Amino acid sequence: MALLLPLGISAQKKTVPTKIDQLKSELIKEIDSQQKATQEMVDMVFSFGELGFQEVETSKYLTDILKKNGFSVETGISGVPTAWVAKWGSGKPLIAVGSDIDCIPKASQKPGVSYHDPIIEGAPGHGEGHNSGVPLNIVAVLALKKIMEREKIPGTIMLWPGVAEEQLGAKAYYVRDGYFKDVDACIFTHVANNMAVSYGDAGNNGMVSVKFAFDGQASHAGAAPWRGKSALDAVELMNIGWNYHREHMETTQRSHYVVVDGGDQPNVVPSKASVWYYFRERTYPKISQMYKDGVRIAEAAAQMTETKMTYEILGSAWPGHFNQPIAETMYKNIKAVGLPKWSDADQKLAKAAQKEMNNPEGDTLLSNGLSTALSPLGKPVPTTSAGGGGSDDIADISWNVPTVTLRYPANIPGLPGHHWANAIAMATPIAHKGVIAGAKVEAMTLLDMFMNPEVIKSAWTYFNDVQTKDVKYIPFVSKTDKPALHLNANIMKEFRPEMKKYYYDPSKYASYLEQLGIKYPTVREDKKVDSGK
Ligand SMILES: [Zn+2]
Repeated sequence: MALLLPLGISAQKKTVPTKIDQLKSELIKEIDSQQKATQEMVDMVFSFGELGFQEVETSKYLTDILKKNGFSVETGISGVPTAWVAKWGSGKPLIAVGSDIDCIPKASQKPGVSYHDPIIEGAPGHGEGHNSGVPLNIVAVLALKKIMEREKIPGTIMLWPGVAEEQLGAKAYYVRDGYFKDVDACIFTHVANNMAVSYGDAGNNGMVSVKFAFDGQASHAGAAPWRGKSALDAVELMNIGWNYHREHMETTQRSHYVVVDGGDQPNVVPSKASVWYYFRERTYPKISQMYKDGVRIAEAAAQMTETKMTYEILGSAWPGHFNQPIAETMYKNIKAVGLPKWSDADQKLAKAAQKEMNNPEGDTLLSNGLSTALSPLGKPVPTTSAGGGGSDDIADISWNVPTVTLRYPANIPGLPGHHWANAIAMATPIAHKGVIAGAKVEAMTLLDMFMNPEVIKSAWTYFNDVQTKDVKYIPFVSKTDKPALHLNANIMKEFRPEMKKYYYDPSKYASYLEQLGIKYPTVREDKKVDSGK
């Protein structure tokens, strides 16, 4: 007996990890069997190409799949028609899984073609790769659901979409309206060109997006210009003021604007004009200060021009901060899964696209095709670092619930971002393979979280004792602010009728490439260079 007891204990110690490992290999097999479904979802959402707040077809398509698979779906959350939550399972833990679904203006591009060749000239397109994240989440959770059902593993999975991420438009509202109140942990997925996860300060900027509108007085610009008060003058003076102010700001800031309305025609003094700013910085106090400075300069411009100024917040995001214990758990699974095996055709397309973007030749990161070595686990970035200019409103969730972002290798390294070139890979085998690999990592990490209570427990210890010890979340959006649902409505109204003709039809075509008649890969023929002799 004395001998048996220690043996029993060691056997038991071994059974727990072995069981998880065995279930993980089952998940990998199951996900590998979903390649057709993955390709279909990724290609379908790519073909919808919908801008923020207008993701009507995308959300309908994705929620229909979830409903068919036994998820209960609530649509129109936070008053956003294209937002939803889908839940399956019962009891705790409740783990949320999300990804963005919107695309980029003027980024229409034929997939698999290395040079600019839009499907529809001027139309929106997936020039960021947001067509791939929710399909990844669906593949991962459906594989996991099978196992949870059979093994009677308790817990609830919640899927949700990042609506209008490019406008930082929705996630702060989900948080404000309580959709993450009972969530124990969250995994967010975002397209990238490697498989990666990080913890601590993510090094990116938070931001607030504000539209300043000026109201003046029209008059005949030729016959009676002295009777006019130009709202466009106010916009221009505000921009001049801001650009002079720029010299005296810290180097961590990023700010940029577009003139949304500059009047109608030159012979009418513009009575209305507006300008839309993104104010980005590394910490909440610095973002708030920029916002205040923007309002002050806008007020001054209104005074100079005798116009009236109003402003409204169109979106916001906190600087990202991610959870260490979940990231470490996930990174083990990243190492186990590794990067996809790229074909010669995949690499040929990637290198041709990098060349097309004039990336420096011989640069191992920018001109060497697709990633073949894993990124290390991402460590915290100091808030004084000015490395990252972008923002993602996943941070508003990550400051309320332990969260990580899984970056998966579905795109080509070294492209400009928010650009038609970033759409080249997004309905090709590159994206399909990257999504399959990402789904494996996500499903395995979810299994760790559902089967090993220690993961979520230590995630909350980090959240309470490290992340939010000194920094408390203060939302940029107030109780009465509303999501800017009107954004992009006109652009989609203009392009949707033509885009509908190119929606993917999987009943007729094995892939979207096939439907568009694209040979994979399509790259420029190498021009023979005349030596000039
Ligand atoms: Zn994005």
